[in-house]
Amino acid sequence: MWWSWSGKKRGGPRNSRPRRKGLIRLTKRTSTGTPKMETKMEKLLAEVASTKEMLGQMRVPDTLAEIRKVVAAPAPRVMNYAEAAAKPKIMVAAAKTPGPTSKPGTSHTLIVASKFENHTAEQVITKLRGVVDAREMGVAVDRIRKGRGQKVVLSCSSVEDAKKIEERLKIRGADLKVAKPEMRLPTVIIRDVLKINSDEDIVRSLRTQNRHLSEGLDWEKVRARVCYRRRARNDLECHPVLEVSPELYHRLIKAGFVYVGLQRRPVWDQSPLVQCSRCLGYGHGKRFCKEVSEVRALRRGALA
Ligand SMILES: [Zn+2]
Repeated sequence: MWWSWSGKKRGGPRNSRPRRKGLIRLTKRTSTGTPKMETKMEKLLAEVASTKEMLGQMRVPDTLAEIRKVVAAPAPRVMNYAEAAAKPKIMVAAAKTPGPTSKPGTSHTLIVASKFENHTAEQVITKLRGVVDAREMGVAVDRIRKGRGQKVVLSCSSVEDAKKIEERLKIRGADLKVAKPEMRLPTVIIRDVLKINSDEDIVRSLRTQNRHLSEGLDWEKVRARVCYRRRARNDLECHPVLEVSPELYHRLIKAGFVYVGLQRRPVWDQSPLVQCSRCLGYGHGKRFCKEVSEVRALRRGALA
């Protein structure tokens, strides 16, 4: 119904429907040969001409070309898993919100532990309270929580405050020690590996049995470690979860399988990082997504 366009564009009482009826009437009368027909025909032709003109004025080919350009433009790069994992956690958190560093939601973390191994987290917290008087120092601490073992994790929303606390602990901390959170490596899971393979065996297998992974890889710099084993359905097997360097992680995920002992097993991503449900990028959640539309997610869905 191309002629209904012009009617709609112009608005007014005439829309496509009455004119369509008119056309039917017109064709009916053609057989009987009404003298009014010619003038009606002329009107119709004039309308067709004006519609064509309007389409011309709208620069349809140009507009189409512009639309095509926008659609074909590559989507802005989103941090992938390995890149996100290669960053220390605090940097990932800081990357979420550019600009003012004291925005709530981002955190600067300090890990406080005692120099004495027999101390508990409670004792560390008591000592920490004694040394770091937040009121007196005028620092804003978001929260403290117990970490693994005797470790106490302290998070601030500003770098300055975190630094102040770190310095205070270094000067007056006595038997408390401060550490920055470790860089977290990406993790993978190898499915259904026979339990007879020790952790060392599995890591050695990666290196010696898997030419498709290790080609051109500098094993001196590569880190690979079995973190824990998940239970498998078969009692003789388990799913080892490994922490590996980003480079090796890439290769493992790309290959999708690995040889361990006398088995060829699938390797899956075992991501401990947040993944955005909107753009599927790593290192940020939906709430912090900078992607304008959901186009990227749809595109990826189409590719998968
Ligand atoms: Zn996103």
